[in-house]
Amino acid sequence: MRTGGEKMNCAKSKKCPVCGKMFVGRKDKRFCSAECRTFYHNERRYWKRHYAKFLVKRAGGLMRFLKSLISG
Ligand SMILES: [Zn+2]
Repeated sequence: MRTGGEKMNCAKSKKCPVCGKMFVGRKDKRFCSAECRTFYHNERRYWKRHYAKFLVKRAGGLMRFLKSLISG
C-alpha cells in the first residue's frame, strides 16, 4: 500500500504527530519541539498503563469464561 511519497531521506519536512505542525529536521527527529516530544512520551506512558489495566481486566474475564467451560 502506498500512502503518499514518504521516503527515507534526511532533512525532509515532516509533520509533528503531537501538534500537527510541519517542520524540517533530521530523519531521527520526530517532533517539532522538546515540548511535543515530552508530551508524546507522557501520553504513551499514560496509555500503556491504562491499556495494561484494561488487558488484565479482559484476561480476568477470559479466565473466568474458560473456568466455567471446564467446570460446566
Ligand atoms: Zn509539535
